[in-house]
Amino acid sequence: MAASNARRERIVIIGSGPAGWSAATYAARAQLEPLVFEGAISEKNRLAGTLPMGQLAMTTEVENYAGFPHGDLEAFLDSSLPPERRQMMAPHAKAGVSGPELMELMRQQAVNFGTRIITDDIDKVDFSSRPFKLYPSEGGVVEAECVIVATGAKANWLGLESEEKFKNRGVSACAVCDGALPRFRKKELVVVGGGDSAVEEATYLTKFASTVHLVHRRDELRASRIMAKRAHDDPKIKIHFNSGLAEVLGDDTKGVTGVRLVSTIDPAKETILDVTGVFLAIGHTPNTAFLGGQLELNAKGYVVWTKHFRTETSVEGVFAAGDVADDYYRQAISAAGTGCMSALDAERWLSAQGIH
Ligand code: NAP
Repeated sequence: MAASNARRERIVIIGSGPAGWSAATYAARAQLEPLVFEGAISEKNRLAGTLPMGQLAMTTEVENYAGFPHGDLEAFLDSSLPPERRQMMAPHAKAGVSGPELMELMRQQAVNFGTRIITDDIDKVDFSSRPFKLYPSEGGVVEAECVIVATGAKANWLGLESEEKFKNRGVSACAVCDGALPRFRKKELVVVGGGDSAVEEATYLTKFASTVHLVHRRDELRASRIMAKRAHDDPKIKIHFNSGLAEVLGDDTKGVTGVRLVSTIDPAKETILDVTGVFLAIGHTPNTAFLGGQLELNAKGYVVWTKHFRTETSVEGVFAAGDVADDYYRQAISAAGTGCMSALDAERWLSAQGIH
């Protein structure tokens, strides 16, 4: 489709995690008729961990999202969602809401106010002039007066076959999301990584676990001094230096039952630990490749907010919300909060331009 025939939108939101849907709900209620590109349901995205609905779609129970206490939400879900989308969410979370359920509810809330959705990726953007140009995977071009980038971040994984096999059955990349689940309580757990996140996750998990084995590939932690001291001083944390996770052990019924560690100094030296959970804390990667370097990123690759506590980016008319611009909090509720902020910022900006 030639640019001149392109569909012109007032506001396009790229991304479908809590930031994207909150932005869409606010924009839709402001009569901006937002269009959301929620991402493609493709094998490529599955392997990359970037399927629609974001990281929450890959978690289990969510106990810390305000407004969803423990309880039976079945009737509420049945009355809120169309049956075809309801089917995709079983089994229902017993403690609070599940990640996929929460995302479906957010999506539906945005739809209820008139949000339009395209189930496709934006592969490329042109922010050099307005209207901005967005290029979906399926072809064509969409023009937009204003864009909210809410594409999130993906947890880094080691890439082991056994790690993939036991995801959501004992393997997780988010202790705060999953750590309190029954399968991890009073059990031995493993955290892989040596940075602040790994120590933070290990410390957090000591609340539930009997022992947390912190597995790090080098002989000293990368974590800040205070965090490293915390790990060394905690009697429930056992640090395994110069060790790598070679295999997650388990079976179809129990999920994870152990790990095989291999020494990074002597590959012949193996250790088996009986654990029920494995938490990866080896960093996150924000989903910014499609931006082609057109927005300012920080040293870690996250989109920079150019004004304090505003969602403006380095390109006027482009806003960013959620984990793509947050390497610090990375919580569903903080992403939803910045999603709201981005829609309000966008609405005010469009109004100042005389477009809204
Ligand atoms: P990070 O500092 O980049 O640490 C990642 C860790 O994972 C490193 O120890 C690294 O090992 C290890 N790692 C990376 N790839 C690996 C692989 N393939 N196999 C095995 N190990 C691997 O990431 P982070 O801990 O997520 O922290 C990110 C940023 O957020 C940091 O700036 C951190 O200070 C900040 N943060 C702060 C707090 C806090 O202050 N409370 C909490 C969390 C995060 P090497 O050390 O060998 O490279």
